[in-house]
Amino acid sequence: MVGRHGIGIGAATLALLVAAPAGTATAATGPGTAVRPERTTTASGYGGAVATVDPEATRVGLEVLRGGGNAVDAAVAAAATLGVTEPFSAGIGGGGFLVYHDARTGRVATIDGRESAPAATRSDHFVDPATGRAYGFDEARVSGLSVGVPGTLPTWQAALRRWGSRSLAESLRPAIQVAEQGFRVDPTFRSQISDNAAPFGQFASTSRLYLPGGQPPAVGSLFRNPDLADTYRLIARDGVDALYRGPVARDIVATVRRPPVSTNPTGAWAYPIRPGAMTLDDLARYEVRFPAPTHSRYRGLDVYGMPTPSSGGSTVGEALNILERSDLSRLDRTQALHRYLEASALAFADRNRYVGDGTPRRLLDELLSDGFAAERACRIDPARAAAKPVAPGTPDGRYGGCAVTGGGAFGGYENHTTNLTVADRWGNVVEYTLTIEQTGGNAMVVPGRGFLLNNELTDFNFTPTQGDAADPNLPAAGKRPRSSMSPTIVLAGGRPYLAVGSPGGSTIITTVLQILVGRIDLGLSLPDALAAPRASQRNTATVTAEPAFVSSPEGVALAGLGHTYTASAEIGAATGIEFLPRGGLLAVTEPVRRGGGAAGVVVPRG
Ligand code: GLU
Repeated sequence: MVGRHGIGIGAATLALLVAAPAGTATAATGPGTAVRPERTTTASGYGGAVATVDPEATRVGLEVLRGGGNAVDAAVAAAATLGVTEPFSAGIGGGGFLVYHDARTGRVATIDGRESAPAATRSDHFVDPATGRAYGFDEARVSGLSVGVPGTLPTWQAALRRWGSRSLAESLRPAIQVAEQGFRVDPTFRSQISDNAAPFGQFASTSRLYLPGGQPPAVGSLFRNPDLADTYRLIARDGVDALYRGPVARDIVATVRRPPVSTNPTGAWAYPIRPGAMTLDDLARYEVRFPAPTHSRYRGLDVYGMPTPSSGGSTVGEALNILERSDLSRLDRTQALHRYLEASALAFADRNRYVGDGTPRRLLDELLSDGFAAERACRIDPARAAAKPVAPGTPDGRYGGCAVTGGGAFGGYENHTTNLTVADRWGNVVEYTLTIEQTGGNAMVVPGRGFLLNNELTDFNFTPTQGDAADPNLPAAGKRPRSSMSPTIVLAGGRPYLAVGSPGGSTIITTVLQILVGRIDLGLSLPDALAAPRASQRNTATVTAEPAFVSSPEGVALAGLGHTYTASAEIGAATGIEFLPRGGLLAVTEPVRRGGGAAGVVVPRG
């Protein structure tokens, strides 16, 4: 069966592409078996490709493609599987952003499935009424206050209705099987639980699932989530309403309003666990949005990304526009990376000042204009790093000199999430980043339902960060917190060339930018661009950088230009696909970060 929007191809070719090659690693594996699907971090071939962080999810996506599904069908089935196997980063308790290239129309479209703030939310949402001061991050996170109305399930439904060829029920089936039959615990799964042992231990529902006997499940043991299988089944039967109007909606609201705190917690938690004020009405009113993607031209390529409430598209795009003022490919590596760091800082200053849910589109267009980029680019001194934070610019349509306004500091936290990239044999492409915010979300499993709630509202600024200027990212009723998620699709001559995305909180923006610069300007292959040591300058005093970056010859030379570092063991966990000549596909994931990803193609290159 050909996907609804598939490009017609001859039956003989189709049969050739659909046939799985004999003896693929996935044939002998699957849910409940002793062997996890083989972890291949880079795969090259034809007929469709899937890149995720997880072998089960990649296996499921490839099976959908092999069975005739299109990229959207495969992406939804893979995402639903990630809700089982990567439950601390993704799931129906969270939200995300999906960017889609439609082969038939040649257009790029998006779905904004970001969580929204309940109607009762006010600008002082995260200010403790007892002290008049903002809550600490952990106190805000592990509470009902942090939970936004989820958007992930309506994203799946909307993507399938608009561009898919399969039903939601069909798309959930493989994930139900994995949840029911189980999968093998790997070191990443276990460590994500250990790292969350204290907050998870406060809630009976979470402890029962993830800390059986007070301990995280052992690496190699079989992990089942029958409650989640039942929830998915209910959704398969009753549709999105099962979660947004039915019994599960009541359970979500009850969990937010009366956190299921254990009478016998495992370990101590230093803060009171505060309730939130989400209502059934908040859930019933939730809707995904379909904003036009951001667009920037970069060295003859068309770069499409996510507009507000994500700052991903505008910040990556602005930084690229600034970088386009110099020919990075002709500069030495240190100078190219210096400009990458400085452009990132400038774009972050503008993001922090101007970008949030509700930013007028014309302002985003100014931020993405070449005139503004030219003005911002002249702030870069090739000989030395600017003192950070740098001030935001003035995107007012009148560009020329190097005008600046008053200062503005960055405020934010590091978080985790997951990303997947899927392409089908017709040329449809999905780049999808989804999250429950922190690894482990707000730490509350909805009792009896098998999924964690998000803490996405902590992506709002807790108090104003922009001095006398308005802060675009303060909490408000119905508002969506600013995101950094940057699912990005790059076209060359109207055809897909690259698709890439990553988790990592606000470092997502710089990770995607660094990969694009590495691939497009620095002559790296896509696998090398993903593997390269990362550095992230988000308009802070120091550059957050992986140790391998700091100690590299360029890292040392950059220190000579005045860059200073804060070391971070790992930045991001990207996935991507490069579209090669004559229909070739190169699916790429992390070789090492987060334990390595899982890439696969329908027909491997022989
Ligand atoms: N909450 C983050 C954002 O929307 C994503 C979480 C992460 O990637 O760690 O920007």
